[in-house]
Amino acid sequence: MRVCAPIEPWHANDIGRSSFRNGRSFSQRNSPATQRLVSCDYGIIKRNYGAEAFVLTVQLSTKTCSAHNHPEFILDVEGTIVKPALKFLRSIEDMVAAGEVFKLNDTLSVGWMIAQVWPHDRKTFTLYEPDMKSFPLKFVPGVNESILQMTMQMYTLDSFAISRDKMEFPSIKQSAVVCDRIGVSRELYLARSEPANERDSGWFIGCAQDDHDHHDKKNLKRLSLYEAFLQRREIQNWMAFPQGSMILARHDAAPRVWLNDQPLPVKSGSFVAKWLTNQ
Ligand SMILES: [Zn+2]
Repeated sequence: MRVCAPIEPWHANDIGRSSFRNGRSFSQRNSPATQRLVSCDYGIIKRNYGAEAFVLTVQLSTKTCSAHNHPEFILDVEGTIVKPALKFLRSIEDMVAAGEVFKLNDTLSVGWMIAQVWPHDRKTFTLYEPDMKSFPLKFVPGVNESILQMTMQMYTLDSFAISRDKMEFPSIKQSAVVCDRIGVSRELYLARSEPANERDSGWFIGCAQDDHDHHDKKNLKRLSLYEAFLQRREIQNWMAFPQGSMILARHDAAPRVWLNDQPLPVKSGSFVAKWLTNQ
């Protein structure tokens, strides 16, 4: 699996505060009623005036792939993620410059998500991502959600002063062991250990209820991380935490985090600290 380089941060306030717990409203994907196009330095700004909400998208593209006889990639990205999306496109340019050749239907990792190469027109490519709600996977145009999730995963690591070089992005296709109460439990307990094999993420995701025996196999099952995400979207922020991490994600209190049995406080001024202050 090809993997794009991690994206450098931009301003954490660019991300909606509700995203940390529940992900975003997918009604934002509704097709626009009208659209106006305006040129700018890095692409075409599309102002969509839908029935429900104003949505700003920008059309961005790679510039240097054609110099390597490779189709350029064109992406429609949401206005709030233009900076990380530009970094992402630069990483694709670097991969192509290094000799990577993409073909239609090829996949590459964007953080823990998987993007797929689709035609944009006869000469250019674009990328599709999972719609984040269908199982089995259904791909839809763009990589907005994947870039947003990848960035939030990095901000969540930063919030507990875990170095970026320790982050371990799993793949949504890798598995996790989950307890059978995760769909209904108010709190979640997550722990990451050494993976059993390359198909395993190393994650355990369970309820935080004392009366539920997580050593009894009858209470456990193995799911793909994507299936677990469909049951509990708030797991998305923790997925890049390294082996040795334990997290207690609480509904109405600050999350508690340990790394190699050491408790890690929330850094003041961090993404998670701001979210806790504003919830
Ligand atoms: Zn449980």
